[in-house]
Amino acid sequence: MDQQQLRDLEAKCVQELSPQCKAGCPLHVDARSLCASLATGDFDAAWQVLLKTLPLPGVLARICDGPCRQQCLRGKAGDPVQIHLLERSVVQRPRPRQRSLAMPARDKAVAVAGSGLSGLVLASDLKRKGYTVTLFEPGPRLGHPLYGRFGELLPDAAIDEEMSALEDAGVVVHTGAEVSDGAFMDGALASFDALYLCLDAGLEVAWPLRMEQGAPVYDEMLGTTSLSRVLAGGDSASPVERAAQGRRAANTIDRLLQGVSLSAERSDQGAYRSRLYTSLAKVPSLPAVVPADPIEGFSPQQAAYEAERCLQCECLECVKACAYLAHYKGYPKTYARQIYNNLAIVKGHRQANQLINSCMLCGQCSALCPHDFPMAELCLETRQSMVAEGIMPPSAFDFALEDLRFSSSSEFFLFRHAPGRDASTYLLFPGCQLCASSPGHVEVLYQWLRENVSQATGLGLGCCGVPAHWAGERGCFERELDRVRQEWERLGKPTIITACATCLSTFQEYAPDVAVAGLWNIMTGYLSPGDASPRGAKKPVAVHDPCAARHNPVLRHSARRLLSHTGVKVRELELAHEQTSCCGYGGLMYSSNPALAKKVAEKRVSESKADFVAYCAMCRDNLAATGKRVYHLLDLLFPEAAKSHLPPGNSKSNNSAQEDPAARPAPGFSQRQENKADLRRRLLKTLWQEEPPPMQAHQHLDLVMEPGLQELLEERRILLNDLRRVILHAERTGQKLADAKTGRFLAYHQPVRVTYWVEYAPEGESFRVYNAYSHRMTIPGGPA
Ligand code: SF4
Ligand code: SF4
Ligand code: SF4
Repeated sequence: MDQQQLRDLEAKCVQELSPQCKAGCPLHVDARSLCASLATGDFDAAWQVLLKTLPLPGVLARICDGPCRQQCLRGKAGDPVQIHLLERSVVQRPRPRQRSLAMPARDKAVAVAGSGLSGLVLASDLKRKGYTVTLFEPGPRLGHPLYGRFGELLPDAAIDEEMSALEDAGVVVHTGAEVSDGAFMDGALASFDALYLCLDAGLEVAWPLRMEQGAPVYDEMLGTTSLSRVLAGGDSASPVERAAQGRRAANTIDRLLQGVSLSAERSDQGAYRSRLYTSLAKVPSLPAVVPADPIEGFSPQQAAYEAERCLQCECLECVKACAYLAHYKGYPKTYARQIYNNLAIVKGHRQANQLINSCMLCGQCSALCPHDFPMAELCLETRQSMVAEGIMPPSAFDFALEDLRFSSSSEFFLFRHAPGRDASTYLLFPGCQLCASSPGHVEVLYQWLRENVSQATGLGLGCCGVPAHWAGERGCFERELDRVRQEWERLGKPTIITACATCLSTFQEYAPDVAVAGLWNIMTGYLSPGDASPRGAKKPVAVHDPCAARHNPVLRHSARRLLSHTGVKVRELELAHEQTSCCGYGGLMYSSNPALAKKVAEKRVSESKADFVAYCAMCRDNLAATGKRVYHLLDLLFPEAAKSHLPPGNSKSNNSAQEDPAARPAPGFSQRQENKADLRRRLLKTLWQEEPPPMQAHQHLDLVMEPGLQELLEERRILLNDLRRVILHAERTGQKLADAKTGRFLAYHQPVRVTYWVEYAPEGESFRVYNAYSHRMTIPGGPA
């Protein structure tokens, strides 16, 4: 990513843009902050908001006609916030002490003819910038055109206060000045660097300017006239727009006197429409508060009520939905810069590594973002760059990649025609996670497909390679996918039927030559209402769409049709279909940031009190791991298969899980691998009548340990087979340390990249494990 790409990306996120009120105010008063202060009754803070951007606040806040209201978003849900009345309420209260904000003096001088609003604002702005400003007012006092013009709204005392402040700031004032003839203009141009003609001062001038209908012609945005160094403005009907004209002319004079472009980067001067998006969903309509006194404005309590109606407009649509984006306390625009810095870093810590590696790559942000901010693409491409540059920390995805290696090993990988067949029309590719989660369903499903769809349905056990894709390992991903493709070709290119939405989208996107169909789409053609009767799902269920189905409306619809065939009532989650949330598995978050993955799943299940139903095995297990009751769609379609996918162990709880598949515990990582290996062995034996290859020596070791320890080992991503390998190695080689006091042994072994340490002791025919941990360090001269 280069600087330009970063800027283009940042520009997509509108979170930092001005709210509509600020953009719609010709002076860009920050009404959102004003409302935030007033909602808490903090008038001092509200005053400070005004002092930042509103010139002559004691005057303008009283007479502003509030054009910002036309753009205030609250107007779409009730009445717009009455920002002008809130401002008036603020300036009725004492002004807090203000620090002088004047810049160092400059050796340039500006003359102003007339002290109407635009002339006063221009004088005030240029004085702050350090220019010498001299104001020539034909009337008897500074601000003469203002006195009496706005009736009760603008008392003389309020004008007096602002005029004194202007003189105190050092603006030189000449009242009773003769400014109407050309001689004044010539003299001013001889003595000053620029001259401003204030058109709202009621002056009639005979200056040699280009005129139309008796008024000088000037540029609305810049204030420039037909004469160099002579500017004009202030003839708008709106007081605040007149003030803004003076401000824009002051900006032009400043640029002129500094010798820089008069027009560059001024497109957001004056009122404009902001691109900031704010959702109005769930915003109730609220009417405006009527002020107790139309002149004095709101009482403090009324001001608070009115200010509370402000929506505090911002976007954050993606952050509200995505626990990952919320976790890092920013939003995509800020994250894009952090990621850019992370990639560009030469020395030091890459602090954004975890930010990059935790994204679920689920695409919900883009689905919700009004401008399609592609956070997933950004994180995925960054992971790929990190892998290519050799700066990806191995710990991030090691565990998931090891699991992928297992799925590709001879312990699980298997592609066959149906028993007794030498050709396949279809090929069931259940996906590695369904085999890991509920192998019984795979067996039932395979039988159902052969009986109902085609006897010529082959079977493919393996992984589509998506974990490598998510880890940024392009080469590994291509190899894995290619391996599946080669098997598919060997079997005669049958149509793959997959039960996994991720496999489906992976094939469709990265292997478009492979014919593939979603299981749920196929099944809707063969099942009718009443063909399946759900066991235990008598109450309505909330459907969780997997994020891989986000862009597959047909698959989502098919899953719902099948659910309706079972008779179960369906509740839609608020974030469903293309806006669905990830379960915490996507993008390998469970590997790179398990604690956050848990939070993600917890957030998801909290969205409905109803039991959930998922139609992706990994979603089902991740959500069920929170303790939520979650069905897999297959639990409802094939309830009799429940008994065959239960983990070994407590038969009492297994019995209840048979009756209540939603309560089936999510298998741990060790169990998942064992389920996959057992499924392959069982299918070889029962369907193809083949003796499966013998189990490896370490797999025969029987381990015992406290249940708490097994949970801890799951958290540490240490599998039972890892422990078995270490113990077998230690027992065979004798390379172990003995603790004479406890009689326990400590041994280590590095089967691949990770070194495992196990504290154990023989116990009868078994081995009792007391503790185990792992690290990515190689011990020189240690056992291989
Ligand atoms: S609701 Fe509040 S922040 Fe939004 S436009 Fe109106 S005043 Fe501004
Ligand atoms: S986890 Fe999903 S929604 Fe959140 S940023 Fe990543 S792709 Fe977007
Ligand atoms: S949805 Fe997110 S990325 Fe899109 S504009 Fe809003 S805050 Fe930015």
